[in-house]
Amino acid sequence: MVTEIKFCSPVGKWWFLSPYAEFPINIEVDGKFYTFQTVEHYYQAMKFYATDERFNTILNLKNPDDARLITKTPEYKINRRLDFDKNKFDIMEKGLRAKFTQNLKAAEMLKTTRNAVLVKSCKECYKCGFGIGSGQNRMGKILMQIREELLSS
Ligand SMILES: [Zn+2]
Repeated sequence: MVTEIKFCSPVGKWWFLSPYAEFPINIEVDGKFYTFQTVEHYYQAMKFYATDERFNTILNLKNPDDARLITKTPEYKINRRLDFDKNKFDIMEKGLRAKFTQNLKAAEMLKTTRNAVLVKSCKECYKCGFGIGSGQNRMGKILMQIREELLSS
């Protein structure tokens, strides 16, 4: 039987699937390596050029939700990289892959979900670009793909 796992917030049994879960990732941006505390920090920071002070502000925020919210302010909105929307799915995938290849514990936990269908789902997820609804469960699909790679390696 194939079970379905619903995840979103970094709480409960499936906390580690959330992009907010604290698994640091080291990623190169414009020729320099940065350590982001969560995938969410990386995703939000990539709305700006690394040379933009806003990139560093996001990088240094403690809470991943603060990183998300600050990008909704008018000052941040008008300074967003114009190529972000075109690249956002690749950015998220790169962040998630870094999370599960750079954090052994996260990889082991993802593998324990075996063949369960992973669904990014909460009330807000119907609107967000990665959950079920408008996002076509893109994040769940990326996670299942990464799990496949981990299980077959
Ligand atoms: Zn959600």
